[in-house]
Amino acid sequence: MLIKEVLQKKSDANCPEVLQNKNLSIKNHRICIVKANLGPANPRAPETIFWIIKSTKWNVSEHAAREMLCGNCGHYWKTKFIDDCMKKHEQVTPPEVDPSWVDTNDSIGYCDEWDIPCTASRTCDTWEPGGPITAALVAMTEMEDEDEEEDEDEED
Ligand code: SF4
Repeated sequence: MLIKEVLQKKSDANCPEVLQNKNLSIKNHRICIVKANLGPANPRAPETIFWIIKSTKWNVSEHAAREMLCGNCGHYWKTKFIDDCMKKHEQVTPPEVDPSWVDTNDSIGYCDEWDIPCTASRTCDTWEPGGPITAALVAMTEMEDEDEEEDEDEED
């Protein structure tokens, strides 16, 4: 359902506004940091306290928590459309979000939960399984939609 909703929202083929507007991106990042503890500041460092807090929140081992990242989150879009949007417009850098944040040059995708571009190696409290959302996953969802519509037509 989530993918369908986002597909409808971007059906006009416009890039998400946040990928075109750095001020909005900074604002949305800061909301996500406050409300969902987006981080860590430096994904390359041990950041032990950050990961222990996440493992407690999610009731999983610290090792498992370290593998629950934006890059495999069900809200994380990694499609050519999103990549092209990011290339077309200047994106916010981590130090612009927070001076303590390190730019790791890791892959970046689009988060449809917090409406931010996010680094694959960070995470937040609202992580969900099922990602990343790729072109293959979108195509599969569209096929399922068509099947559902055909089934409904046959029932009529
Ligand atoms: S919802 Fe998922 S993709 Fe979005 S910031 Fe949180 S972990 Fe990252």
